[in-house]
Amino acid sequence: MHVIHFAAECYPVAKVGGLADVLGALPKYQHMAGVRASVVIPYYDKPFVQQHEWLSVHTGSIQQGSITYPYTVLKEQADTLGFEFYLIHIEKLLDRPEVYGYADESEQFLAYQHAALDWLCARQIRPDIVHCHDHHAGLIPFYIEYAAQFSFLKGVPTVGTVHNAQYQGWMHWHMAAWMPSFDTWRWGLLDWDGMINPLAALIKCCWAYTAVSEGYLAELYVQANGLESLFSAERAKSYGIVNGIDTLVWNTATDPMLTYHFQASSVTKGKLANKKELSAAYGLNSQLPLLVFIGRFALEKGADLLPQTIQRVLTQYAGQINFFVLGSGDPGIEKSLQMLSKDFSQHLGLFLGYNEKLAHQIYAAADYLLMPSRVEPCGLNQLYAMRYGTIPVVHATGGLKDTVKDVDEGGYGLLFQEASVDVLIEAIERIFVIHQKTAAFKTALRKKMMALDFSWEKSAEKYNAVYKKLID
Ligand code: ADP
Repeated sequence: MHVIHFAAECYPVAKVGGLADVLGALPKYQHMAGVRASVVIPYYDKPFVQQHEWLSVHTGSIQQGSITYPYTVLKEQADTLGFEFYLIHIEKLLDRPEVYGYADESEQFLAYQHAALDWLCARQIRPDIVHCHDHHAGLIPFYIEYAAQFSFLKGVPTVGTVHNAQYQGWMHWHMAAWMPSFDTWRWGLLDWDGMINPLAALIKCCWAYTAVSEGYLAELYVQANGLESLFSAERAKSYGIVNGIDTLVWNTATDPMLTYHFQASSVTKGKLANKKELSAAYGLNSQLPLLVFIGRFALEKGADLLPQTIQRVLTQYAGQINFFVLGSGDPGIEKSLQMLSKDFSQHLGLFLGYNEKLAHQIYAAADYLLMPSRVEPCGLNQLYAMRYGTIPVVHATGGLKDTVKDVDEGGYGLLFQEASVDVLIEAIERIFVIHQKTAAFKTALRKKMMALDFSWEKSAEKYNAVYKKLID
């Protein structure tokens, strides 16, 4: 079986969040399970791209509006990722350093999808399954069925995975002129509330759609940024498949980004060594419990709650806890945290920006990880944290609810029921209670988490089962 994945991100080539982690791992595990999995993403001017060898496997051109774009398909020569990996390169459009955030983002993703299908048709590559992730690849199932120039692919089963329904790729209808010509009788499949909505088109046109956890799938029916009724109407073809973690990358015994490696048997000692290193680098006292946040400063992540929570806790419980925050996003949140890190320089470590190595070091060093997310489709941070012996303190929502079990119910984490400052502070007060417990209790908790199985094998099998069903 040959599946081709289409997405905007893929770890370690281009990562903004969890989407990249999934695209870097799922195909690898599918490959190990005997499925030929390829990944096609847009070209980005990133270190990985600059440092690897690329083979030009196809050149062609596409017409968008009045513009003709020559494109090149590049294949990573050594297959270092564990699967076939391709980039779609278009000069001055798909050759930039960042994944998102450009004013002509719609043109970028339209061109990516158009060129990718043009290549497959030109080279007569007809996979058994086309798997599209989020709105950036959302138009592909529509094109395959209703754009005559891709008729070679017509009838190939398509799967759509929803990693985050908050972003849908909305475009004004005048952008239809940028698309390959399609059967205009079918325009309704592209439309949602008077806009072209690539995520809606994906859900309408794919043969099956999946959400990245059971809990998130259930949430989509009631809270999906305007698409609730669509997700419900298409429920019969839906599946909830929780993300896994790539245990080849996230392994405390071998992680090249850590100075001090450890295993479950040496978790207490190993974490302390990592904590001492991080604390020394940021002028924090390593004797105190360390509570960390890693992620985008966005409302959906509850990052707006951080400044006030940190300020109140560090004032009320002075000298009892340290925080570390790694992330970037909303400038107001960044500024507030920056000011706090000056006021409480011995108790708040802060790194504004994206830093993969530091993230690994923090998971290894931290005692507790805070996730006050309002929306969390799956959430990978809590899985990485647990794998690294760090107790997750999470809002009971989406994938967090599915993967974290409260200590009071025989589990290993702390769940809270509301994303608000007061409730967050109550959760942090529970940390103090846990922290007072014996070293043996805490070590047992950490060992229990490290032994949990969130590996990709099981989830990759579930995707493969969906594919088989569609092919049959
Ligand atoms: P998202 O909604 O952002 O995709 P996930 O929990 O699914 O959230 O995945 C987040 C991923 O991005 C994790 O691998 C996390 O470690 C990583 N990450 C987020 N922010 C940063 C950052 N500032 N620096 C390094 N890694 C980060």
